[in-house]
Amino acid sequence: MREDLIGHSEAGRPISVVHVGGETAPLRILIVAGQHGDERRGRQAVTQFVEHGQPAQDRAAPVGIAVVPDANPDGTAQGVRTNARGVDLNRDHLRLAAAETRALHQFVRSWRPHLVVDVHDFPPRRRHLLAQQLVYCHDVFLDVPTHPVARHPALGPKGSRLLQPVLGALNAAGYRSARYTRVTRSGRVRHSTPDVVDARNGLALRYGVPTILVETRGPSRRDDPTVESHVVAGVQLALALIVRWAQEHRVPLTEARPRMPADDSVPVRTRYRHAARPCRLAFADPHSGEIRTVVVPGRFTPHLEATWRVRLPRAYAVPRDRAALLEVLRRHAFALVPPSPDGIQRIERYWIERLKPSRRPDRSPHDLTLSVQLESGSLDEHVLVPVGADGGAALAVLLEPASKHGLARFAEMELPVAPQAAYPIWRVV
Ligand SMILES: [Zn+2]
Repeated sequence: MREDLIGHSEAGRPISVVHVGGETAPLRILIVAGQHGDERRGRQAVTQFVEHGQPAQDRAAPVGIAVVPDANPDGTAQGVRTNARGVDLNRDHLRLAAAETRALHQFVRSWRPHLVVDVHDFPPRRRHLLAQQLVYCHDVFLDVPTHPVARHPALGPKGSRLLQPVLGALNAAGYRSARYTRVTRSGRVRHSTPDVVDARNGLALRYGVPTILVETRGPSRRDDPTVESHVVAGVQLALALIVRWAQEHRVPLTEARPRMPADDSVPVRTRYRHAARPCRLAFADPHSGEIRTVVVPGRFTPHLEATWRVRLPRAYAVPRDRAALLEVLRRHAFALVPPSPDGIQRIERYWIERLKPSRRPDRSPHDLTLSVQLESGSLDEHVLVPVGADGGAALAVLLEPASKHGLARFAEMELPVAPQAAYPIWRVV
């Protein structure tokens, strides 16, 4: 085991990575814990996994595991969810505003893991579910990337190639486990969101790396004393099963690239589709603790379908004066190049015809209508972001005005998506 420094928190605390197995192994797995400083169980499970439960090194399938046992040391020190500047790190993987998130991305770029596992705690008691006499009872929830551009072929459709065997083995070993299932206050039943601000979708989108979310049941004042060690052991087993799964799927993990459609069309907007059947899930009774499987109240919409696709241009042209946006692209290590001096280029410019603004902050508008004009123009006032093989699809998600999860929804980027306005980023075709 070897400990390395990968960066510092906003308050100057060290962020370290522990290497287990060969750092240069042909199969590399990164395990991250503690992005939320108030989630103690996940951190504890990961620390114990490193200390006691090191995965057996299979000589036929050597694996290098890097563990970040505490991704948010300031939050841990204070016992709070955010970092010292109040940034929720697991909502910062798009803008990379926090030193902690930037350190993690830099490490992913330099070490190039083939799989990233992000460990969290979930609160078992939610007020709107308690009103229905339901308390989450699962020891471990797992999920995979859900944004269509962030999916990876090694995980299979909807992650089933990983989720089925790992969840099956966990349940067989006596740890209640399922795919992460959210029941919203407004009555929707879904898995994780397709937004790309969290590590699961954000890292997968930017680096084409498959990711797995591990959610362990957080403490509850009604827990009896044996619960904690059982839940923590469940997470350790989940990590060991994921490592073994990765060893068995080394070839698709290390060789397969996220699929790009043949016509280069990138889905940037999605819609939830209803399932034919309601969701059934085990819950505990808040009073007796008795566990029973119930039809989850709410509309079950587990499927996402793409409703808007864009063809990739050769490059995006960003106005030079959009400093905040250019800074975000720099933090993601996208190449930013000056336009060639020979001047005139074929460009596509968007004109925003109509939209319905979202009522919620930092959300993209609904019912968007755009028109495109093909022109010849000078790019003297722009910086080019070439859409190379690596991360090109991510650029469409970040920069297209139609993207539901792009940067235009954040006011500080100065990318107004407003009716009867020109969109400032151009497509070089
Ligand atoms: Zn969390």
